[in-house]
Amino acid sequence: MRPVTEHDIRTSFVNCSRGEAKRVNLPRDLADLPWEDLDFLGWRDPGAPERAYLIAEHDGPLVGIALRVTSGASRGFTSRSMCSLCLTTHTSGGVALMTARRTGENGRQGNSVGHYLCIDLACSLYARGKKQAAGGQVVDESLTPEEKAARTRANLRAFLTKVIA
Ligand SMILES: [Zn+2]
Repeated sequence: MRPVTEHDIRTSFVNCSRGEAKRVNLPRDLADLPWEDLDFLGWRDPGAPERAYLIAEHDGPLVGIALRVTSGASRGFTSRSMCSLCLTTHTSGGVALMTARRTGENGRQGNSVGHYLCIDLACSLYARGKKQAAGGQVVDESLTPEEKAARTRANLRAFLTKVIA
């Protein structure tokens, strides 16, 4: 994705209030992120671990989604979970249920969309083989990193469409 600024991020949120968007703690060193390897920018709020954010280009414009993080660590150390975006398998705790309030009338009625996602939201790097899941299994796949990245983007697109629709 193209590099984004703090202003871009704060004005991109579609499912939280302006006040909330202003209070979001941004990732440090925005300028130094490996943008060319990112399908989206995702991070946990360093000041509020139950919050996470995801910023992506969606049909052109930037779309920012605020997420609620539910700890996924309740199923014991031997269980494995798969991220629904990049399909990386992690040991327990590496994946968490993240829930996005839907926009518009759906959101006002309390509707949300939940997905199990990599807890560090580094899906783009896992898909490209630039980051390894701790204790995770490499699922035997014949896809190239480019194909995995494309799949991640397709899954992300489906997720964003559900939140915004
Ligand atoms: Zn992932």
